[in-house]
Amino acid sequence: MSYTHIFAGNPFDRGDQERRDEELLRQLLRQDNVRILPFHRLNPLVKRESQAELAWIGHDFLDGLPPEAGGPKFLGFDVARNPYFAVDISVVEDPSHIAALAPGAKFEDGRAAATDIPGDQSGILAQARSNLNWHSQHRFCSVCGIESKSQRGGLMRQCPSCKSQHFPRTDPVAIMLVYRGDKCVMGQTVARKNSTFYSCLAGFLDQGEAIEEGVRREVREEAGLEVGRVTYHSSQPWPFPSSLMIGCHAEAISEEIMVDQGEMSDVRWFTKDEVRLALEDRLEGVNIPGPIAIAHHLIKAWATGTANI
Ligand SMILES: [Zn+2]
Repeated sequence: MSYTHIFAGNPFDRGDQERRDEELLRQLLRQDNVRILPFHRLNPLVKRESQAELAWIGHDFLDGLPPEAGGPKFLGFDVARNPYFAVDISVVEDPSHIAALAPGAKFEDGRAAATDIPGDQSGILAQARSNLNWHSQHRFCSVCGIESKSQRGGLMRQCPSCKSQHFPRTDPVAIMLVYRGDKCVMGQTVARKNSTFYSCLAGFLDQGEAIEEGVRREVREEAGLEVGRVTYHSSQPWPFPSSLMIGCHAEAISEEIMVDQGEMSDVRWFTKDEVRLALEDRLEGVNIPGPIAIAHHLIKAWATGTANI
């Protein structure tokens, strides 16, 4: 079974050839069929009529933006070859006049909007939000400190002085449901201490580490358990700010949990029956992630016997 999670499923042709042509990008931005999605402080413009949708607007407002806005970043083409861009307008203190260009639209928190807009649009939101955030955090060359310049429609920054090239980051995170027989492990992070929220264990992959190795290391660190077999399930872009969640099932070969008190406030075994109740929101004192999160699907696949294990 293949999964297209929220924040995946972006339908655009990202135009790898076209985005290398700076003159073509300028022309596309002047076309009547160009569609631009403004973000204010990383919140996308969203309209809510019968259906919530990303609120695309034309190019006229671009001329009124101060140069510090950084310019539009190219997202790609739809099937009809309409070009799409995103632009960070955070330098505009009050963006209400830009929101008004799409009747009824507002700048909204991306996580809340993502569950309401169609799935393919959540993929576009992920691409745009991660890219704009990267530009806002990487304006200056990390080698020589000079302000670098966006190239390839935003898929690179180049330093005009030392010529270093800098590419947008995506940070891989391993997220895993640990199981052994009829039990699985869920934990509560220190940040959620004393809540009822339990989820899969997860952690950033280190440099020079395979996914399987990262899974085994994280489980050992957070729960003190040894893991044998690791199987891949699916992945999910997570644009807060720019992670790729790599979902796995991990078979424990030891039983005794030793909680890493620095990171986790609780880690424990749950029976399959308990997990099934939790999925239906009927397990007293325990809440697990909803379908927006890949963790939900890792848990569900194991509990319903559809995991590849
Ligand atoms: Zn430089």
